Amino acid sequence: MAENWEIYTDWNPWHGCTKISAGCKFCYVYRQDAMYGSEISSSECRKTANFNLPIKRRRDKSWKIPGGRVVFTCFTSDFLLKDADQWRPECWQMIRQRSDLWFHIFTKRIDRFMECVPDDWGNGYDNVLVGCTVENQAMADYRLPIFLKLPIKHKSIIIGPMLSDIDLAPYLHPQIEEVATSGESGVGARPCHYDWILHVRQQCVERGIPFRFHQTGAYFVKDGKTYRIPRRYQLSQAHKANIDYKIGKYMVPETIKFEWKEEDYHLPSIS
Ligand code: SF4
Repeated sequence: MAENWEIYTDWNPWHGCTKISAGCKFCYVYRQDAMYGSEISSSECRKTANFNLPIKRRRDKSWKIPGGRVVFTCFTSDFLLKDADQWRPECWQMIRQRSDLWFHIFTKRIDRFMECVPDDWGNGYDNVLVGCTVENQAMADYRLPIFLKLPIKHKSIIIGPMLSDIDLAPYLHPQIEEVATSGESGVGARPCHYDWILHVRQQCVERGIPFRFHQTGAYFVKDGKTYRIPRRYQLSQAHKANIDYKIGKYMVPETIKFEWKEEDYHLPSIS
């Protein structure tokens, strides 16, 4: 797998975020800051030294981020956070300039989306996938109807941390290019039940929508048994379940083509 990770890059233009819903309770950003003894509150949003990473160049003038990469954007905050309104326009410019990169933006603030897009957004940029994050049925029922109406070229639903079973059926329109599920990490993590994961998978398979089981979380319940899973195994254990559907070897939906070939994708048998 090691070579596959080379297609990913993290870009965190700002750091710090405010909690807005149940899924934020044990936010990764807060946990990391506490672990490293940060003196600045995690709720205080500040620009990072890597703010302009997508347009940084090496001495030989080549891009620091080579073309063709998947760029996980703003994963130590929320890209649509109000505190970052003043900085976001510059990020959109960089995203537009680097049309050779594929930007993944995940948000719990999809209800702010139209306030946050640039004037030339139109129906969306070709190289941006927006993931609407939901953690339970209430957030699915609030955020996903908004999400479905938005002009975005590539949409995914991110269920994480998964805190309950979710009926996704009303929201699994063909415009959804991927559904990804994850349990919660960290001390005090809330349980994630394998039955919930399988239920979402079944709903996706019935509609031909790519599905990914991203990670188990720390507290995983399967066949009535509870498993405590250390952080380092949470991704690999999910991968071992081998239940991804229409997901290529780079763990991205089929819609991401770039230079990859058709044989890079596989359709696992449906159990
Ligand atoms: S929106 Fe995301 S980054 Fe912000 S507090 Fe919630 S979980 Fe953390």
